[in-house]
Amino acid sequence: MAGQNQLSKNRVRLWLRAERAFGLTAVPVAMNQIVGTQQLPLRQDAKAPLITPSVAAARVAPATGTMNEATLIPPPSIPNFDAPVLDREQKIIRLQQLDQNEVTGCTKCRLCETRKHTVFGEGDAGSKIFFIGEGPGETEDQTGRPFVGRAGQLLDKMIRGMGLTREQVFIANIVKCRPPNNRVPALDEVATCTPYLERQIEIVRPRVIVTLGRPAATYMLNSKLSMGRLRGEWQTWRGIKLMPTFHPSYVLRSYTEEVRAAVWSDLKKVLIELGMPIPSKGNVGA
Ligand code: URA
Ligand code: SF4
Repeated sequence: MAGQNQLSKNRVRLWLRAERAFGLTAVPVAMNQIVGTQQLPLRQDAKAPLITPSVAAARVAPATGTMNEATLIPPPSIPNFDAPVLDREQKIIRLQQLDQNEVTGCTKCRLCETRKHTVFGEGDAGSKIFFIGEGPGETEDQTGRPFVGRAGQLLDKMIRGMGLTREQVFIANIVKCRPPNNRVPALDEVATCTPYLERQIEIVRPRVIVTLGRPAATYMLNSKLSMGRLRGEWQTWRGIKLMPTFHPSYVLRSYTEEVRAAVWSDLKKVLIELGMPIPSKGNVGA
């Protein structure tokens, strides 16, 4: 029974991690209360069907082969936006399954060799706003959480400037593992990892996506334009409104009135789009 005990402990540990990551507020008495009649699938015994197996299978980019710019055009899969709309609790479960069953132990690209932790993303699974950054940095790699280092502190300020907290939005990256020395993720790494991001977006189905910095905008919009050209203009990603803005790391490096005002103007457009109140003293870490 020691094995059983260990399994139960693992379930509780994974559950608590999910609670923190996706904003759960209650711990169930038994795991099957959460997932209906089905046991929560874990990596080591995962045979249960995932979100939408055919869509998932179609979207796993090949781990080998020649990757070039063409890999990104068009993105390798079509999200299953015809699927029934999930309620918040169902979204939490789907995200948790994707994280635990696929991302946590992922070895699909070379970034798995140097990472300490995968960084799935976190926030409100039912959020209307979905932020997309580039990839985990050192602190994120150590903690398994997105945007918790210096750039993360500024992102928190940006979100607070919108009158929100980070628990009210969803935050993820285009790659889930830290590129060594914080280099920009390579095209093949992005192509291999982004099916996970697409499935996260498909589950959360936000009203607005905000991309932070060039790599996220380049991937999502399949555009080679500079951030200076892209930012501040509404775009769409498969029917979802998308606002590109500067990455908080760039704002930290170029901490000028002008750059901060540009980011605030972009975020204000998001609030207007969502019909949300605009804080009069909204700012970006000023
Ligand atoms: N920069 C990013 O793009 N993502 C993180 O999670 C942290 C820093
Ligand atoms: Fe897997 Fe993405 Fe990490 Fe590569 S970066 S190993 S695809 S989770």
